[in-house]
Amino acid sequence: MAKINQNYLKLPGSYLFSEIARRVKEYTTQNPNAQVIKLGIGDVTKPLPGKVIEELHKATDEMGKAETFRGYGPEQGYEFLIEKVIEFDYMSRGITLGTDEVFISDGSKSDTGNFQEIFGIDNTIAVTDPVYPVYVDTNVMAGRSGTLGDGKWSNIVYLPCTAENNFQPELPEKKVDIIYLCYPNNPTGMTLTKDQLKMWVDYARENQAVILYDAAYEAYITQEDVPHSIYEIEGAKDVAIEFRSFSKNAGFTGTRCAFTVVPKTVMGYDENNKPVSLNKLWNRRQTTKFNGTPYIIQKGAAAVYTKEGQEQIKAIIDYYMTNAAIIREGLIETGLTVFGGINAPYIWLKTPAGMDSWQFFDKLLKEVNIVGTPGVGFGPCGQGYFRLTAFGSRENTEKAIERIKTQLKI
Ligand SMILES: *Cc1c(COP(=O)(O)O)cnc(C)c1O
Repeated sequence: MAKINQNYLKLPGSYLFSEIARRVKEYTTQNPNAQVIKLGIGDVTKPLPGKVIEELHKATDEMGKAETFRGYGPEQGYEFLIEKVIEFDYMSRGITLGTDEVFISDGSKSDTGNFQEIFGIDNTIAVTDPVYPVYVDTNVMAGRSGTLGDGKWSNIVYLPCTAENNFQPELPEKKVDIIYLCYPNNPTGMTLTKDQLKMWVDYARENQAVILYDAAYEAYITQEDVPHSIYEIEGAKDVAIEFRSFSKNAGFTGTRCAFTVVPKTVMGYDENNKPVSLNKLWNRRQTTKFNGTPYIIQKGAAAVYTKEGQEQIKAIIDYYMTNAAIIREGLIETGLTVFGGINAPYIWLKTPAGMDSWQFFDKLLKEVNIVGTPGVGFGPCGQGYFRLTAFGSRENTEKAIERIKTQLKI
């Protein structure tokens, strides 16, 4: 008899986006002429940069010729891409890494989801609240979560991030072993300064803990004191893994390419408390379960680091960040309290008049025909907040904010 992994049965259905779709459908069925604008999109909308397309075509042609055809590549990625990553993303900020400390992959969702596999089941994990759901759900699947009650798992430590603490998580009272941090943050759009991040690095060093640092939105940082990499913090190379992706900076959400940095100095501990390099374990995991990102795709990703590539991705990020400024400033003018939108394509607003996240969702849909994402969908501390994104078109973003300014009753 094939017994299932019972942990999968603990997972609630992914209610958030299906419930949003259901409410939008109900509304548009009753109001067929409504021009609904979606500012809830968590996906890029601009096409791939021209230089990336050019390299994808070239690499595709290489695959059609015997002399340049490539089969299985290195599971860890091709050196031509790893070297560019190190040079542009790390050396430029004074961080040195070996080529065997960077692992190219097909996405940060899979890497942030899979990385927990190399840790024991008895670790206590900590996540911010609100949070990107992948970190939590993959630990539930693995059996690290305990039971669910009031939107929280009994064995997971939640670090509240609200307006009251300016979205800066405080150190946990209970000792934790693995800490997921995502900065710039999805969904709040907020960041940590170097000093604030250092507090976490110091905590991890003191407690032999590991930080899993998701920097998928690094390219959106505009302010000086915001670290682009956790390795800008002294001592982080002993305790932190960093996840980066080409999804949000270069439009690779459908093309799929990312990388994970696992410095050889980051340790986990065996049953005798002897240190074991996580780099070695992750390499073993990847070479066993992953056969590499396609050559063609890695060639496309390498084009991001050319002069034209850099200019082209900057133009796309500027476009989204101009949308973010339009949303942010428009909402402030309306009298709403807003966060984020300065170093991230997300605007996190406090729902007015004590409304809960879903009440505000309905109000926005019905009064101004705009769809966003209820904050409570990202965790209990998201209650009373609401996420809008800057990934829409300029035209729709402007139209949406004009409607909010002139027609929303708050
Ligand atoms: C979009 C996003 C990613 C990137 O995921 P990919 O699988 O590389 O597309 C990672 N983390 C967060 C928090 C995200 O929002």
